[in-house]
Amino acid sequence: MLDKNTLGVFLLKKYPTAHNINNDKTLRNYTINIKNHYLKKSEPLSKIKYDDKIHVINNALGLHSYVSRVQGNKLKSKNEIRIGTIFKQSPEPFLNMIVVHELAHLKEKEHNKAFYKLCQHMLPDYHQLEFELRLYLTQLELIGTIY
Ligand SMILES: [Zn+2]
Repeated sequence: MLDKNTLGVFLLKKYPTAHNINNDKTLRNYTINIKNHYLKKSEPLSKIKYDDKIHVINNALGLHSYVSRVQGNKLKSKNEIRIGTIFKQSPEPFLNMIVVHELAHLKEKEHNKAFYKLCQHMLPDYHQLEFELRLYLTQLELIGTIY
């Protein structure tokens, strides 16, 4: 597809529109909805936001961080989810995939079997979407946006 320059056409046909979850407030609502549906009992999230530094610094697409500190005689912890700004304008299924990935880390820290099982529970098409996300990122890097 790259040789024939048809990757963009392929992606646009499959994903004709970008989502409109393009600020931190709508991202937060979107993420909380998925969490409440599948992971209601897991730990709360203190911060959910788009972060333009993720791609550069961590060479990652999203980030789940778990910060714990001692306050008085209590151990306080908070979970944060940061999503790369590359997802601000993307097909909704890719945003769904990355949010599901970061939410799964609330329960499983490692990328193990249980982790991917949980991802698939929240998003049955998880593996196919992860593959197509790579195609999409290749398109962005080598050619540019499809929208
Ligand atoms: Zn991960």
